[in-house]
Amino acid sequence: MSVSVAIPNVTSQLGEGPHWEEDTQTLLFVDSLECKVYRWNSLTKDVSSVQLGDTVGSVVPFQNGGYLAGVGRTISHFEWNTGVTTKLQEVSSTGLDDRFNDGKCDPAGRFWTGTMGSKISYNNGIPVFEQNVGSLYSLDKTGALSKHFSGITVSNGLAWSSDERVMFYIDTGTRKVEAFTYDVESGEISDRRDAITFETFPEKATMGWPDGMTIDTEGHLWVACFGVGKVICFDPATGTKLTEVNIPAPITTSCCFGGKNLDELYITTAPFAATEQELQQYPSLGSVFKVTGLGVKGRPANVYQGDIKGRL
Ligand code: CA
Repeated sequence: MSVSVAIPNVTSQLGEGPHWEEDTQTLLFVDSLECKVYRWNSLTKDVSSVQLGDTVGSVVPFQNGGYLAGVGRTISHFEWNTGVTTKLQEVSSTGLDDRFNDGKCDPAGRFWTGTMGSKISYNNGIPVFEQNVGSLYSLDKTGALSKHFSGITVSNGLAWSSDERVMFYIDTGTRKVEAFTYDVESGEISDRRDAITFETFPEKATMGWPDGMTIDTEGHLWVACFGVGKVICFDPATGTKLTEVNIPAPITTSCCFGGKNLDELYITTAPFAATEQELQQYPSLGSVFKVTGLGVKGRPANVYQGDIKGRL
């Protein structure tokens, strides 16, 4: 196994939302706080970026061209070359100061994304987020938005089992990965239950906070753990830990599989929440890292398959 910086010379304040585009062998990811979306072509090594007008939680390709992103409190479409942005939906008139955070498409091509409080305060250098102000939404194929539940602190990782019958979800504030019975036809979720509970592990103090995640072909979850510089692999069927990968950057935020064989793990990181000492000790904090030689593979990432052409 080897861990390296994947993309030299690109540093994010809050790297998030990695997504592998198979047809172009390109990694998409965002810098949430700098309001930017990046594309890195793994074949040519070219990097380009688009500057959007507000925080960016996540980004997914739209099957008919361009991309969808959670931008501030909106879900918006944007064109890469022109940066032309079209608002599709906007949430929250409740006075809650929330913004879209992590998001991903389900196997049917709906876009799922949830919110979190946009105000960050610090307690001894550790970021503290507003409690329970977020909700989880999905944008269906007509472009209509559904709210599934509220009371979320920091809406994060999403993944679906290969049989399309289970959705896994992380509200970082719970220190859990939860599971839902998932109906791919209707896009409804039910039977909410705990799959992995960080607080029950004897080594919980070294596990940090579950953030973004991805799933491999064997159904195991790879969870980026905020605050400890590692990605931990779990078996959600048993709630047990299988392995962990240490990343030389203490704030790991999300991960996805990529590469020609989908056997490389790409990990985003975030210096915005680091102490001065951490910034000095880990000069690559803020980079995207790549792990090879894990011996596992991911599945191709889903894209948004909505019929929204008429609204762009
Ligand atoms: Ca995140």
